[in-house]
Amino acid sequence: MRPQVSLDEADVAIIGLPFDGTASNRPRARFGPRAIRSATLGIEDYSPYRNRDMARLDVYDAGDPELPFGDTAACLAMIREEYTRLSPKKIAALGGEHLVTWPIIRILYERYGDSLFVIQFDAHADLREHYLGVRECHATVMNLISGLIGRENTASVGVRSGTAEEWAVLRNHPRVYGGPSGRPLSTFGELGCGLLAGRKVYLTIDLDVFDPSAMPGTGTPEPGGMFFPEFIPLLQSLDGVDIVGADIVELAPDYDSSGISAALAGTVLREVLLLMAGKK
Ligand code: MN
Ligand code: MN
Repeated sequence: MRPQVSLDEADVAIIGLPFDGTASNRPRARFGPRAIRSATLGIEDYSPYRNRDMARLDVYDAGDPELPFGDTAACLAMIREEYTRLSPKKIAALGGEHLVTWPIIRILYERYGDSLFVIQFDAHADLREHYLGVRECHATVMNLISGLIGRENTASVGVRSGTAEEWAVLRNHPRVYGGPSGRPLSTFGELGCGLLAGRKVYLTIDLDVFDPSAMPGTGTPEPGGMFFPEFIPLLQSLDGVDIVGADIVELAPDYDSSGISAALAGTVLREVLLLMAGKK
């Protein structure tokens, strides 16, 4: 990447959101942002998948806010404040656990209203109403988002784990791709080919969508996931779609001493930034 530019000059901005306050299985996603940043140092700027180069992109890295751990509401309020400060720049947020998506979607829904559409990549449905009595947590984030923007304005990719209640919802959802009950991944391209025309699209990528053999560094690994060569065409099929923001969440680097998880996350970040920036 080129040297740091000012926020005004930037094509896209990055912010780290090192929050893992509601992690129920294995925490430590708070160390995700710094691991992704350091992994990008070992990754080529050039994407052979897009024939485009990060070196031509002006990126502003806002760093990580110092979050008041132990108080989820205060953390979410601070995330909201920091994200708003960078707006309306296109932002790639680095988690952190999946709950960090929630304050972001609230901001973007206030801005874009009914034109907002959210695409979730995830092993887990995240559609619970409550988890252990808690309304706002990583396991409820898509329930919160669907409640706000309407389930018909969401799509889910790669989901293969959830409760019976969550599966009942997924089975009746027209935009579920991959996994045991979804439509074939090969049909995902329909979103980019017209269905999302005129929409403001947000991508939330929970890295546990990848197979645990490729992404062991995550809090809740789930067998049967996708691999990078399957993921790339999905992202490419969104070329030309107005991606207004994205996040890459749930990297917990301490569970993977090999570093392949962070390398995968860093490569996903490169591809997402190039997609968000559009033609440059
Ligand atoms: Mn998730
Ligand atoms: Mn997940």
